[in-house]
Amino acid sequence: MIKKIVIANRGEIALRIQRACRMLGIRTVALHSEADRDTKCVRLADESVCIGPAQAALSYLHVPAVISAAEVTDAEAIHPGYGFLAENADFAERVEQSGFVFIGPKPDTIRLMGDKVSAIRVMKAAGIPCVPGSDGPLGDDDAENLRVAQDIGYPIIIKASGGGGGKGMRMVRNEATLLNSISLTRAEAAAAFNNSVVYMEKFLERPRHVEFQVLADEHGNAIHLGERDCSIQRRHQKVIEEAPAPGITEVQRAEIGERCAQACREIGYRGAGTFEFLYQDGEFFFIEMNTRIQVEHPVTEMITGVDLVAEQIRVAGGETLSCAQSDIRINGHAIECRINAEDPQTFAPSPGPITQYHQPGGPGIRMDSHAYNGYVVPPYYDSLIGKLIAHAKTRGDAMARMRNALTEVVIEGIKTNIPLHRDIMDDAAFQRGGVDIHHLEKKLGL
Ligand code: ADP
Repeated sequence: MIKKIVIANRGEIALRIQRACRMLGIRTVALHSEADRDTKCVRLADESVCIGPAQAALSYLHVPAVISAAEVTDAEAIHPGYGFLAENADFAERVEQSGFVFIGPKPDTIRLMGDKVSAIRVMKAAGIPCVPGSDGPLGDDDAENLRVAQDIGYPIIIKASGGGGGKGMRMVRNEATLLNSISLTRAEAAAAFNNSVVYMEKFLERPRHVEFQVLADEHGNAIHLGERDCSIQRRHQKVIEEAPAPGITEVQRAEIGERCAQACREIGYRGAGTFEFLYQDGEFFFIEMNTRIQVEHPVTEMITGVDLVAEQIRVAGGETLSCAQSDIRINGHAIECRINAEDPQTFAPSPGPITQYHQPGGPGIRMDSHAYNGYVVPPYYDSLIGKLIAHAKTRGDAMARMRNALTEVVIEGIKTNIPLHRDIMDDAAFQRGGVDIHHLEKKLGL
């Protein structure tokens, strides 16, 4: 049994992990940078350790500091949250070699899924539908690359195998620019990800982003918890997520979800994970697997009643999943708005002191946030200051609750994207449901 956990993260997710630990009777150690001394998670932790200066590279990403903190506090396990070191296989390996439990999949699984070419190969073998593509890395043979693209059919997209965060991708409309685009993407990938491997996929023109949540333990049990629609995006960054995805049938959910769970069993997956798909014309196409808890996990928690972070921790401690597939029932609909400290028009970050803070409430409303009256949003990290989640029996009621909560919430002193969320809730196409991943940018005139 794990008795003490180091939370190697900050912001809302650090607080979320801490809440799960409390529920399980586990003590917490909050790690923080010099800029994060006054966060809620640090104040509420049993112990805290300052691991370095504000810059993430010298604190939250500094592996020896994180591991030393676990050593000096006599903790048993490290929860990486999302971002920072969450999908760093070398870190996970160092954690295990130092005698701690890494709350996540095995290092080899993280490595396998972190490389998109190898992830696609494994998923194809496990019967997961993938985007038609080059079936592996592109070589140096120009004629062959032109032929592969011809076979797939233009437009195509060239993607870096080691890419992430929406970077290292280039769309190609026709043959004339193909070879040059391959060289450019390769050079960018080498510089940004230290990995020049690129591959090719059919470019889907108007897909939705639909992803499946899975949970697996070390005893061969794996389940899916249905899907989320994350198509409201700007620059490949999710802005609003919802579950279930509008229009996805129970039959589709069971079929794709079970294939994802089966893939987990085949690769010996452990913990929480997400299979990301593009969904177009009634078909699912796998693009990548995330081997961590995701920002948008609460919408799945609201409609299934499963505490995903608690399950992650239990499984990491060697326990079996607390629920079977037959226990999972989809109850109603949930929507999440990511509240960012940014200008709602220009999207420029807006750090600084929050002079007034008031969380909304009422039936079906949940707000996961580390902010409070007087909290100073530091300029060093991402701009997410909270997530507002609305749950109700129907999608329409969840939207109504969200609209109300967006009116009640007060965050003053800094700019936030709350006005943007209000606009989206009033958007006729969003209200109908099932918009594609370009909808928000088109609406914004980008
Ligand atoms: P990352 O790891 O950088 O997030 P993904 O493979 O998940 O990369 O792709 C990010 C986004 O890029 C997708 O959500 C989608 O908007 C776009 N994209 C990726 N592959 C394709 C494709 N084959 N066709 C159209 N859009 C794509």
